[in-house]
Amino acid sequence: MITKQDLERIMDRPTGEHPVLSLFLDLSVNSDNKRTHHIFLSQKRGQFNELDSDRTPHHREAIGEVFSRVDQWLEEEFEEENRGVAIYAEIGGEWFEAVQFPIAIQNRMVMNDRPVITPLAQVIESYHHHGVILLDREHARILSVYLGSLLDEIEVRGTPHPAAHSIQAGGYSQGRYQRRKAEEMRHFFKEFAREAEEFVNRYKPKDLVILGTEENVANFREFLSERLQKMVIHTGSMRVDEPAGEVMQKLQPYLDAEREREGQELVEMLRNRVEQDYLATAGLQSTLIALQEGKVDTLVVARDQEREGVRCGTCEFVFAREIAACPYCGSKETEEVDAFEEMIRMAEGQGAAVEFVAPDVLGDMRGVGSLLRF
Ligand SMILES: [Zn+2]
Repeated sequence: MITKQDLERIMDRPTGEHPVLSLFLDLSVNSDNKRTHHIFLSQKRGQFNELDSDRTPHHREAIGEVFSRVDQWLEEEFEEENRGVAIYAEIGGEWFEAVQFPIAIQNRMVMNDRPVITPLAQVIESYHHHGVILLDREHARILSVYLGSLLDEIEVRGTPHPAAHSIQAGGYSQGRYQRRKAEEMRHFFKEFAREAEEFVNRYKPKDLVILGTEENVANFREFLSERLQKMVIHTGSMRVDEPAGEVMQKLQPYLDAEREREGQELVEMLRNRVEQDYLATAGLQSTLIALQEGKVDTLVVARDQEREGVRCGTCEFVFAREIAACPYCGSKETEEVDAFEEMIRMAEGQGAAVEFVAPDVLGDMRGVGSLLRF
């Protein structure tokens, strides 16, 4: 399981003397149940003519050794249930790090002086941690779900109400029986709500889903605190003992739709603010400036983008356009960078929120905009 800490660690890695290979592989299976990443890998390998005479296990070329380590990692460490991999390796150095996740990403390979983080940020920022509560009248399960995987599961069985034991078996009316059952349900639901509260405190999910019969879900919601009620993004029907894998599979379309809806709302807000010229930027250049001034609250960026930009070699200011000389310090030393990677690095480094959305909805903003803090 990957976390934001992985992203921060990779991003904050000091630039060393060796170039870094950043490799992103789509390891999802196609309709023939096959993975095709090796085609991409051999194409990339083919770009290095010098590798023709390079042979394992005695590499003469540092890049040949890196490709071997990649193959070895995929063979020994990759877990079949995952669909995406990010691998970072120093070419000619020691550092080799790979992370895998159940989300497919685009194949991409970059060699640079530092690791490329955009695809990894995209995976981490696009998926929220969900709490899923399944219940009937006697039994509840709380699932912790992240990136479509089950992280943890808690089972709660209602402990019978003390009053239930004090009544002698037999000999009480149907009305009394029903009242007792209703009282027991309230007692259990109160207990489940307490467990849900504890779960939220401990696991810190971003939102909650409640599944059960319509009646049970409605009744149970009333026992939740206001804070938890506000976290509920979806309710639906499901058997309490449905296997976790099935639950997640059935839930995924709703979670995807919710994510899409959140993205659209955000873009709408951005568009309104841009129109009113109120605390927002649209497009690369103004967003880059706002980021470098530390003003960005939320960076809204299209998925899977790259754009040529330049960084001033002296003051390190980043520009989305060609510059003859840096307008800030006058330096003529510039280096080529990917403007999107630079923006995402800055936003992540400043603790700004980064929201990835579908490319077509931000087309008129050249794929990026931001909400500003001031
Ligand atoms: Zn400069």
